[in-house]
Amino acid sequence: MMTRIAMTHYRKATKQALIMLIAMVSFTGSFGSAEATEINIYSSRSPELVQPMLDAYTAETGVTFNILYLAKGMAQRLVSEGEASPADVIMTVDIARLSELDHMGIFAAVDSPILRSNIPAKWRDDDHHWFGLTTRARVAVVSIDRVQSDELMRLEDLADPRWQGRICTRAGSHPYNRALLASLVAHLGEDAATEWAQGLVANMARKPPGNDRAQASAIFAGRCDVALMNTYYYGLMKHNLEKTEQQDWAKAVRIVFLNQGDGDRGQHVNITGAGILDSSQNYDASVQFLEWLSGPKGQSIYSSINYEYPVNPRVMPDEEIASWGSFRADDLPVSDIADHADTAQRIINKTGW
Ligand code: FE
Repeated sequence: MMTRIAMTHYRKATKQALIMLIAMVSFTGSFGSAEATEINIYSSRSPELVQPMLDAYTAETGVTFNILYLAKGMAQRLVSEGEASPADVIMTVDIARLSELDHMGIFAAVDSPILRSNIPAKWRDDDHHWFGLTTRARVAVVSIDRVQSDELMRLEDLADPRWQGRICTRAGSHPYNRALLASLVAHLGEDAATEWAQGLVANMARKPPGNDRAQASAIFAGRCDVALMNTYYYGLMKHNLEKTEQQDWAKAVRIVFLNQGDGDRGQHVNITGAGILDSSQNYDASVQFLEWLSGPKGQSIYSSINYEYPVNPRVMPDEEIASWGSFRADDLPVSDIADHADTAQRIINKTGW
């Protein structure tokens, strides 16, 4: 992880290397390919989820990365840095966050036929400012022992009194839940979405503590029977070699893709994505990197190590992901979800989710 100070050092080091390179070139009279390209990334994604892609790209191209992990405060930081930001590429999760950054006018419009061909239109910005790189479904996970296979079919069902005292979720204002609720606002309107949120909160087994995986652990411990979860967490729990107790949490639950019935709208999905800063000093290299991430290699690593769904329809999902079954995704453009994020937050505040 790199601090601001490290970045300053990096810039100085690059400048020195460049001076040396110019000296070498004038000495030999030829320009070799010795100049190393470095790309600076600001990421709100955990380092361990981004590093595998970076390592593979470095091995293939020699391009190296400096990555600054920003769990919070990405927008504020970019505002304060302005044009002087050392960042080239911004990587983040959740459409509302991407859209928020886009509205700040910081992204370059990237004209890349490769990105347009690799990424379906519904998962990238119309103005080419940001690009979805993976998708994840926010599904229900249910207790294998205490929930029948046809007991839960739709997101709407979670507001039914049948589930009273049986639901665990993380806090509503987390971007994952806010986006889920925003999709409901887009489909059903604010009133119906509010009513649903009230029903959900009334059915909760406890006030929301912890993250998605903590809810699966609560199902394992018998505290509740159903939770909301992003799909990749299931894979990360099931194959967790460091925290092996998480394998037990995964064994205690089953994934339910929601709203799959005939004529129903399909399962809510969200994206992770990236954009390139308008002020980037490494624009061409950054475009090539995003093109690679959206291509066969990048997409396969995302899928096999992070258990995320490829956005590129020509790349097959990893075996583990495929074993969860196929589903029909909600066709609502992700930008519509971002548009309703404020309304969703208002509902979350009102209902105390
Ligand atoms: Fe996550």
